[in-house]
Amino acid sequence: MTKNKEIPNDYGLSVWGNNNFIVSDGKVCVNTGSKPPILDIVNEIRTDGYRGPLLLRFPHLVKNQIEKMYNTFNKARKEYKYTGRFQAVFPLKVNQFPGFVQILIEKGEKYGYGLEAGSKAELIIAMAYNQDGAPITVNGFKDEEMISLGFIAREMGHDVTLTIEGLGELDTILDMQKKTNDPMPNVGIRIRLHTAGIGIWGKSGGINAKFGLTSTELMRAVQLLKNAGQLDRLNMIHFHIGSQMEDIAPLKRALREAGNIYAELRKMGAVNLKAVNLGGGLAVEYSQDEHNKSASYSLQEVANDVVFLLKSICENKGVEEPDIFTESGRLIAASHAVLVAPVLELFTQEYTEKALNLKETGNPPLVSELYDLYATINEKNAAEYLHDSLDHMESLLTLFDLGYIDLQDRSNTEVLVHLIIRKALNTAAHLSERDRLQQRIQEKYLVNFSLFQSLPDYWGLGQEFPIMPLDRLDKKPTRSASLWDITCDSDGEITFKAKRPLFLHDVDLSEQNYFLAFFLAGAYQEVLGMRHNLFSHPTEATIEIDDEGYHICDLKPAASLLDILDDIDYDITDVQKQLKKRIERSEIIPVEKRQDVLAELYLYLSENGYLKTTRLV
Ligand SMILES: *Cc1c(COP(=O)(O)O)cnc(C)c1O
Repeated sequence: MTKNKEIPNDYGLSVWGNNNFIVSDGKVCVNTGSKPPILDIVNEIRTDGYRGPLLLRFPHLVKNQIEKMYNTFNKARKEYKYTGRFQAVFPLKVNQFPGFVQILIEKGEKYGYGLEAGSKAELIIAMAYNQDGAPITVNGFKDEEMISLGFIAREMGHDVTLTIEGLGELDTILDMQKKTNDPMPNVGIRIRLHTAGIGIWGKSGGINAKFGLTSTELMRAVQLLKNAGQLDRLNMIHFHIGSQMEDIAPLKRALREAGNIYAELRKMGAVNLKAVNLGGGLAVEYSQDEHNKSASYSLQEVANDVVFLLKSICENKGVEEPDIFTESGRLIAASHAVLVAPVLELFTQEYTEKALNLKETGNPPLVSELYDLYATINEKNAAEYLHDSLDHMESLLTLFDLGYIDLQDRSNTEVLVHLIIRKALNTAAHLSERDRLQQRIQEKYLVNFSLFQSLPDYWGLGQEFPIMPLDRLDKKPTRSASLWDITCDSDGEITFKAKRPLFLHDVDLSEQNYFLAFFLAGAYQEVLGMRHNLFSHPTEATIEIDDEGYHICDLKPAASLLDILDDIDYDITDVQKQLKKRIERSEIIPVEKRQDVLAELYLYLSENGYLKTTRLV
C-alpha cells in the first residue's frame, strides 16, 4: 500500500482545531469534560426523530474565546504597564441568533463584555439583553429613530456610545438633545483612515471607504460638540479595516493613524475621549492544510503590538493612555457551532471488475489492449501504461462517435480506464499526475444540507470550512470526494480540489450512517444563510459538557414546511384549503381513502423540508 500523503486522518485538526476537538477511537470528540464523541450526541438527537442537518452549539467554546481575548490583551497591558483598560463588544451582525446570544451574554458577564449594534433590530437586542454596566456601541448609518433609541438606551442606564459615520448624524443627535433636553448618549467618531483596508472585506477602510470622517470633518465635529456644550460626551474613536485579516501590518498602520488622531483630539479639549476602538477583523484559521494557512499572526502578537503602539504614541504626545476597545466577532463566534449532515448517497463512479461486460468474441482490439494494460500494470510501468490507456480511451470514444463501436464497448472502456487509474494510484506513489487522476475518479457524496442555507460564504466568497467525517478516523480515507447538497442548484457543490483534496471513506450506507461535520460555522453563516429552494435554518441544539457527560439543551427543530411558507407570506390556511379541495375532487383517490391521504399530507406539512435518510431507521 502507498501512503496517502495528501491528507492525514485528522483532517488538519492540528491546524484549525485549536485543541477544541480530538480524535479518539476513530471518532471526533469534543475536547472537554468527559470528551464525548460528536457522533454520540448526533445519534441521541436522531433517536428522537430529528433528521436532516443539525447545528450543534458548544457554549464552552464561546467561553474559551472570550477568556482568551481578555486574558491575552490583559497580559500585554500588564507586560507594558499600560494604564488604559481593555474592553470589548460583540458585533451582533456576526450572529444574532438567540441560541448564541444567550450563551455570549452569560459567558461574557464576568468581563463586562458588551454588544455592538449596526441596525435598529440589533440595537433592540442589545438594549434588552446587554449586561448591566457593559458597553453598547452603535455603528452604521442612523436615522432620527435610531438615534432616539440611543437616547432611550442611555435613559435605561446603558453605557451606550453612538458612533457617528458622518456629520449629519452628529447634527441630528445634538438637535434631539436640544429639543428634549434628555441626557446625551456618548458619541464616538468613526475615522476615515488614510490606510486602505484589506482582505475580501477591505472596503471597510481607506480614504474611499463607505464609512468615517475625514480630518477636516473631525475638526468640524469637535467644534459642533464644543458649541453645543457637549464635547465631554465624545468618548471614543473608532475604525474597522475589514474581516479575516491575513496579516497585521494594515492594522498597525491604521492604529498609528488612529492613535495620533486620538492624541490630537484630546489636546483639542476632548477630555472624556478615553477609548480607541480597533473594530474587528481578527482572523480565524479555517485551513485544513499546514502550508496554506489563513492568518500569519497570533492573538498575543496583536495584543502586544496594539498596546505597545498606543503606549508609545501617548508617551510621545504626552496624553493619557486610552482604553483599548475591540469588536472582534468572527474570532469569538466561529468555533462554537458545528454543522453535522448525513450523507444520503454515493453517486459512485467506481467500477469494480464485476461491471466489466466483455464480449465472448469481437471486442474491439483497443478494448482488449486496455484489458491487458489493466491486468499487467505495476509500479514500474504505471506511468507508461496509464498514458497508453488514456490514449486508447480517446481513440475509443472517437470510434464510438463515428459509429464503429457500440455502447457495450464504450461501457467496457469506461470501466477499464477507471480500474487502471485506481490500480496506478494504488501501486505507484510518485505519479506526477496524482492530483489530476484523483479528480478524475472522484466520488460524489450527496449530503443532507443546503450550502446556501448553512455555509453561504462558501458559495458567495469561496470561504473554505474544515470538513471531516465524525467516525472511521482510524481508517484511511481513500475516495477523492466532492460534496453535493440537496438543493437543485449546481452551485450547491463543494468540488474536489486537487490542491486541497478532501478524501472520504468508502461507505456502505445500507450498513451504516456516515456523517460529515463542517466546523467553524458559528460566524456569519447563520444569518447570511438563505432559503434557496426553501430550505430552512437547520435543527439546532446546545450541548453542555461536564466531567460526567453531555446534556442536550435548548433543542430547536428546523421550521416546518408550513412555517416556511408562512414566512414568505403564503396564507397557510389557504394553502391547506387548496390542498384539501384538490384531494376531495380527485378522481383517482377513492372516497374512503381521502381522509388518509389528507392526514399524510398534513403530517408532511408539519415536518421540515430536509430529506430523511431512507435506508436506515
Ligand atoms: C463586521 C464588523 C465587525 C466584526 O468583524 P469581524 O471580522 O467579525 O471581527 C466589527 N466592527 C464593525 C464596525 C463591523 O462592521
